[in-house]
Amino acid sequence: MTKYIFTTGGVISSLGKGISSASIGKIMESRGLKVSLVKLDPYINVDPGTMNPYQHGEVYVTEDGAETDLDLGHYERFTKATMTKFNNVTTGQVYNSVISKERRGDYLGKTIQVIPHITGEIKDRIKKASQVSGADIVIVEIGGTVGDIESLPFVEAARQFRLDEGYNNVLYVHLTLIPYVRSADEIKTKPTQHSVGKLREIGIQPDILICRTEKQLSDDIKEKISLFCNVKKDAVIEARDVESIYEIPLIFKEQGLDRLILNHFNLKHGTTDLKDWRKKVIERTINPRHKVTIAVVGKYIGLQDAYKSIYESLIHAGIQNDTKVIVKKIDSEEIEKSGARQLLSDVSGILVPGGFGYRGIEGKIEAIKYARENNIPFLGICLGMQCAVIEFARNKCAMKDANSTEFKKSAKNPVISLLEEQKGVKNMGGTMRLGAYPCRIKKGTIAAKLYKKSIVSERHRHRYEFNNIYRKSLARYGMIFAGIYPKRDLVEMVELSTHPYFVAVQFHPEFKSKPDKAHPLFGGLIKAALRRG
Ligand code: GLN
Repeated sequence: MTKYIFTTGGVISSLGKGISSASIGKIMESRGLKVSLVKLDPYINVDPGTMNPYQHGEVYVTEDGAETDLDLGHYERFTKATMTKFNNVTTGQVYNSVISKERRGDYLGKTIQVIPHITGEIKDRIKKASQVSGADIVIVEIGGTVGDIESLPFVEAARQFRLDEGYNNVLYVHLTLIPYVRSADEIKTKPTQHSVGKLREIGIQPDILICRTEKQLSDDIKEKISLFCNVKKDAVIEARDVESIYEIPLIFKEQGLDRLILNHFNLKHGTTDLKDWRKKVIERTINPRHKVTIAVVGKYIGLQDAYKSIYESLIHAGIQNDTKVIVKKIDSEEIEKSGARQLLSDVSGILVPGGFGYRGIEGKIEAIKYARENNIPFLGICLGMQCAVIEFARNKCAMKDANSTEFKKSAKNPVISLLEEQKGVKNMGGTMRLGAYPCRIKKGTIAAKLYKKSIVSERHRHRYEFNNIYRKSLARYGMIFAGIYPKRDLVEMVELSTHPYFVAVQFHPEFKSKPDKAHPLFGGLIKAALRRG
């Protein structure tokens, strides 16, 4: 029988519920159990695909092409679970399907209500994700903070779950903040008491509390939390600020969180081993031998979450190369103002990530020109590849007005353009080229050396493509078409023959990088950057 863990958050947002849920997944995997994770998002959008990154952060894309919350990225990075469209449930999806059913007449004669219809749909979706995954333990993270109006139906569904599935098959974990008040030189438990009180009002008594804190929790404090929150003392888990998020599973394990969970579920204790993780990931993160600076030139630089998977992939590539990667975040519009040399002369590598719309494009193109002309290792991703093609056509192939039709419909040289089938698209949600597609790699290229495979599969999220009319003329000037999607003959990767590391890809390698297995193209970027020094 599948076991369910619900994680909720209290006091404030951004406590790291996603990372805590992923870390719980990791420690349960270390006990030999198969895990899966589900994120419940209280917003009314059907998915985050149509939201601005400043609203939502990165949109994470799954193998099957769902546009999802970035927490699914944490889940895949920390565990072996494969995320699908079933692993992210939003209020929008839930209402969408309940209303369609009502129109179809599925509930004839009834009044459709939040309880039981909306909560029922939420529970069905959690069960569906659980079934599809075949996991022993499904960790369900409820987005938002307890007390929010929007997340109430999700919390209510979580409450009903224990009733339906039985006490020992459902566990509630609540993540909370224990703030340190400097003027009193004290840490305070009151916000946590209130937050647990709020949960109890809805009918959920948490079994485990994970307490985010900058100071150590003394025995006295743990006792106090235990007493006031009605949680056993050994179930008050301290989550102190750490240098690397990848340490969290170890910290949970040291405090016996895996044992607590197994006991609650009456599960047999399997083997327990995170030694490899400690050696391969943590030690190298904390004591790296080398250091390198990589510029990320984008337009959503102000928000850490907007390029989450890119930043994590750079960390993974650093781990692989025993290197601390210092990221210099550069707003591409700043390059338009002060020039590329001014901002990029001190970096050893340049990465241009994906994006949408014209703002900041010319700065990205300038940054790429600088990388190309100065032999600086460069990785372009999605829009980054499209900009690399535009730059090359404009500055190497004398097509001064080369552009993408996304930015200039009437461009004389539309080196990036829409495929026929995209031209008729009217609905913006979920209609891009999404999810995993195979890519054939050309022999003798940098990509071939790094992947050590001739066919790879990578995830996509874009509407525009390289315009094949320009393949021959760009090749004549030294652009190599290193990766092709064979079925449609679409360009997936370009390289430059005269450059030490100029790799640009239409897909998103950052969605497949793991802390203990860096993505080859990120690994290659850091290696090349180290060589450059
Ligand atoms: N805006 C571009 C397109 O739609 C690139 C998308 C991206 O970088 N994810 O094709």
